[in-house]
Amino acid sequence: MRKKTLKVEILAYTPNPLDVIYSACRQCYSPSSAISVFCDENVPREKKISLVKKVLSSGHESPLEHVSFTFAIEGISRACSHQLVRHRLASYSQQSQRYVRLEDLPFIIPPIIEKNDTAREKFIEAISILEKTYRELVTILENEYGEKGEKILQDARYILPNACETKIVVTMNARELIHFFENRCCSRAQWEIRNLAYQMLELVRGILPEIFNDIEAKCARLGYCPEGPFTCGKYPTKEEVLKNDREKA
Ligand SMILES: Cc1cc2nc3c(=O)[nH]c(=O)nc-3n(C[C@H](O)[C@H](O)[C@H](O)COP(=O)(O)OP(=O)(O)OC[C@H]3O[C@@H](n4cnc5c(N)ncnc54)[C@H](O)[C@@H]3O)c2cc1C
Repeated sequence: MRKKTLKVEILAYTPNPLDVIYSACRQCYSPSSAISVFCDENVPREKKISLVKKVLSSGHESPLEHVSFTFAIEGISRACSHQLVRHRLASYSQQSQRYVRLEDLPFIIPPIIEKNDTAREKFIEAISILEKTYRELVTILENEYGEKGEKILQDARYILPNACETKIVVTMNARELIHFFENRCCSRAQWEIRNLAYQMLELVRGILPEIFNDIEAKCARLGYCPEGPFTCGKYPTKEEVLKNDREKA
């Protein structure tokens, strides 16, 4: 058994991302070609940022789709990756439990379980039993059917837990990333995917601060909390805002 922790790196991203978004914005309103806009070195960076922000704030967000980021993520649980892949406007390549035999069950332990001695002991005990059972099942099936590899692993994996570590490569465009951050940086999101979202956000802020520095959980943009009675209290709920407006009217 091996305890794993989150690691995220950017493998690649669209070169000159601000210039690409700016050219896409300008193409919509200019008789000239995006090629000449892209190659024009005389446009000051501030002017590009100002136009991009103006276009995006009007709700015209498709220029963001021309810029993509590819992340290598490891040290997340299958519970977390299951939530991640619910975001459909992205590309994923995930380590296979059919082809990769888990010799030494890598796992993620949630902080509230880790800090309680009794809970941690129970958790580790369960992982240890599952690891042993997985190994035994693989051996039994290999001996019974004279097969190795995915024909055996694909069924032995049925007993692996949600805590099992996974590795995944993810590509998202900037528009989808903003949507992802607005939903998953929320304090109501589950802790592991929230940690992942914040690490990804930090990385893209380093590359494209003009777009991502202002991004946070969606309450910041909305001015209210859409989580209803489960609010963290940072912003008023929608109901409170509406009630306030009615009282003022
Ligand atoms: C706090 C929180 C709690 C959650 N709890 C649960 C839960 O209990 N159970 C559960 O099943 N899920 C849950 N989810 C997952 C959630 O329902 C979404 O599946 C997930 O957040 C992906 O978001 P999305 O569908 O907006 O985004 P993406 O798949 O990333 O899509 C981006 C946007 O594209 C558009 N879009 C994409 N595909 C379609 C389509 N087929 N039709 C129309 N428009 C589309 C939508 O506007 C969508 O918002 C939870 C998510 C959060 C953040």
